[in-house]
Amino acid sequence: MTIKKKVIIVGSGFAGLSAASFMAKAGWDVTVFEKNKTAGGRACQWNEQGFTFDMGPSFYWMPDVFERYFAQFGKKVSDYYKLQRLDPSYRIFWDKGFTDLPANFESAKALFESIEPGAGEKLEKISARSAVQV
Ligand SMILES: Cc1cc2nc3c(=O)[nH]c(=O)nc-3n(C[C@H](O)[C@H](O)[C@H](O)COP(=O)(O)OP(=O)(O)OC[C@H]3O[C@@H](n4cnc5c(N)ncnc54)[C@H](O)[C@@H]3O)c2cc1C
Repeated sequence: MTIKKKVIIVGSGFAGLSAASFMAKAGWDVTVFEKNKTAGGRACQWNEQGFTFDMGPSFYWMPDVFERYFAQFGKKVSDYYKLQRLDPSYRIFWDKGFTDLPANFESAKALFESIEPGAGEKLEKISARSAVQV
């Protein structure tokens, strides 16, 4: 009889859950400890008086990483959740009024430029640098 190696993972954020699932796949006996009531770490919500707030990620960065993660287990992202493009992407509230971030890149660039001259070009540069190579 082989005794399974045991491992304890502290924290159930993306990192902890990812490590736990890979170690379980590799045959380890995994236990995840989480101090909060729900799993997910920073990727959680706060509900107050009928309003829901994202407490961490708003942008679905690097979709390829999520696809690759699920593929390691013979699954697809769409087996678990459905992505829906939001437009505007989000709304920033100021002391007075708000700013909507448009989903369309050219419109977002124009918005950046209207707030700070040169910022549109900087947005273009950082987006090109962050682009996923497929
Ligand atoms: C305001 C904000 C906005 C963000 N926006 C984006 C975004 O738009 N797009 C994006 O991709 N990323 C975004 N991020 C980053 C993203 O949320 C984090 O990179 C990611 O969630 C971190 O995951 P993690 O597993 O490393 O850590 P965490 O999510 O912090 O998980 C750590 C877990 O460990 C638990 N823990 C800690 N100590 C203990 C203990 N002693 N015992 C038990 N449990 C413990 C915590 O409760 C927590 O659940 C944002 C983060 C913040 C805060």
